[in-house]
Amino acid sequence: GTALLDVRDLRVEFRTRDGVAKAVNGVSYRVAPGQTLAVLGESGSGKSVTAQAVMGILDSPPGRVTGGEVVFQGRDLLTLRKDERRRVRGAKMAMIFQDALSALNPVLSVGAQLGEMFQVHEGMSRKDARGRAVELMERVGIPAARERVGDYPHQFSGGMRQRIMIAMALALGPDLIIADEPTTALDVTVQAQVMDLLAELQRELTMGLILITHDLGVVADVADTIAVMYAGRIVETAPVHQLYRAPAHPYTRGLLDSVPRLDQKGRRLYAIKGMPPSLTAIPPGCPFHPRCPLAQDICRTDPPPLYEAGPGRASACHFWKETLHGAR
Ligand code: SF4
Ligand code: MG
Repeated sequence: GTALLDVRDLRVEFRTRDGVAKAVNGVSYRVAPGQTLAVLGESGSGKSVTAQAVMGILDSPPGRVTGGEVVFQGRDLLTLRKDERRRVRGAKMAMIFQDALSALNPVLSVGAQLGEMFQVHEGMSRKDARGRAVELMERVGIPAARERVGDYPHQFSGGMRQRIMIAMALALGPDLIIADEPTTALDVTVQAQVMDLLAELQRELTMGLILITHDLGVVADVADTIAVMYAGRIVETAPVHQLYRAPAHPYTRGLLDSVPRLDQKGRRLYAIKGMPPSLTAIPPGCPFHPRCPLAQDICRTDPPPLYEAGPGRASACHFWKETLHGAR
């Protein structure tokens, strides 16, 4: 179907003291309307930087988009003027961050912050905007919203604050939401509640959702497809259940094997050995080869392309077939 967002061969570089860091190195992904794409990877894999480049909020300098396209609703956002870009970002795309406390203004009540969106973008009166703020707070499940609309961010629990962030993101009826580790700072029970809320709203409002996480367990129930990132590249994409059942990349397999499962108590956890590479010194060939239990000579010299590994599936591994069929 038609993509809501079509990211093509995106490249982002950072200038660092150690040289140029290739934070995003040819990333392509698509999100259809009403679909959820989970982007999974360790910290430094490029998943957040990709999202920031899509949103147009990359710190620049030192970060710079050096190639690719970000086609949103048919237009390449990278070619838009700054003010046009800002308009798209305000009305059609919204982002939710891990740390709601620092993303919200500490000296403004949540009602004032929510209301401000309607005043600024929709020209509403202060009174009407406040009414909409209360409605939104109710919609994201904040108890006694009418009484709490004048409270400040620090007066809410972490979970409630994250609901307020979701309300801010929803305020202008976006077509795409990017949530970067939206539940990482919360305890497990609250994580599930916030994730359920996001998934419910996304279905109800038929938005596209990109869910960025380092935690496979968080996305299993809510994502349609997964893109796994490593060292600034996508190493595997697949429909979520296929990826869980049979990963086609050794890195994904390692991630799956290191997720503790409730049904397998006491099972020894496998952790991927070693560390992700520095982005200023990405290994030649397959960037995962120093850590890969399947690495062969070719892996040290030839970068694997994204091989088609079945319908809707791709893997950047020379040995994706062996991986898919469980040989190790
Ligand atoms: Fe491992 Fe080689 Fe596949 Fe890279 S290409 S993941 S090193 S087997
Ligand atoms: Mg991050």
